[in-house]
Amino acid sequence: MATRFEVAAYIESDGEEKVSSAKPEQNFNDLGPKVTVWNVKTDKGAWWVVEGEGVPMNLYPQGAYFFSSDEAYSFHMGLMARLLTREAHDPELVFRSMSFGSTRFVGVRRKLHVASEALATITEPEHAQGVGLTCREVLIQLGREILLDREVSAEEETPKNADFKNRARLSLERLASGRENAEVRDATRRLADGAWTFACHVTHSPSSTRQDATVCITMTAAVVSLFEQLLEKVDQGEGVATCPSCKSRQVNVIDRQIAADKPKETILSCSYCGWSEVIEVDRPAPIGLDVKRCEGSSGSKRRKKTKRVSKK
Ligand SMILES: [Zn+2]
Repeated sequence: MATRFEVAAYIESDGEEKVSSAKPEQNFNDLGPKVTVWNVKTDKGAWWVVEGEGVPMNLYPQGAYFFSSDEAYSFHMGLMARLLTREAHDPELVFRSMSFGSTRFVGVRRKLHVASEALATITEPEHAQGVGLTCREVLIQLGREILLDREVSAEEETPKNADFKNRARLSLERLASGRENAEVRDATRRLADGAWTFACHVTHSPSSTRQDATVCITMTAAVVSLFEQLLEKVDQGEGVATCPSCKSRQVNVIDRQIAADKPKETILSCSYCGWSEVIEVDRPAPIGLDVKRCEGSSGSKRRKKTKRVSKK
């Protein structure tokens, strides 16, 4: 059983309220673990705090939803049981063995997660086709992350957003360049091509099965993981900006002025999740004075372009 001090510290941890009293209301052991429900009063209201052997501590408001300690106990244990069951069937576990590196692109991974969750409910070919379609979307999104417009050389034409194969090929020329990387470059390109072709096949084939969908996700996840690891190595050396919210590399420097009487701002903006941050503000010139932006300040802006927004 937790101490009165631990329970009070838990409630006060967000700094919102002060505990005036905390006492154990009832003990339970009918489901196995010894669990205590605490009756806690604060300057803002009253809570049931449930904790016990191997049971994470959580709080429930008294009055509005949970009138008795018994109710709070039942709800808490049901919730914990469901969380544990969900963890056991978590599709993400399938991929954990593949992601040796850190998860790089939250948005791409989220989509991959959607595809793997859909695996559990496949009964018809259309469901398997749907997984193929989501895998294609994962690869398209990955293609946008691994090749930014500014990374395409002048001689090359920038591939369209949905042209994953060519985006992967051009990206690999940067991520695994030189003769010493020829093998990893070719192997990754073939795997990327294969994953794309197979995802298209699963999407269009009227005889797609659950097994096809599983192979499709496995190939897609392997490609995502490979690129994440190759990028990690190269970007670390170059200090490329990443979005602190979704880890996307699609972060741009934008100059904007909302209204004529408002100052001009330079912002960093993520085109994937919409996150933005003002990095520089130009105060408007006093009326009657024509102040030009000096060379020095535009130079400092260019430096900020390559600034690392967040270290992952
Ligand atoms: Zn973002």
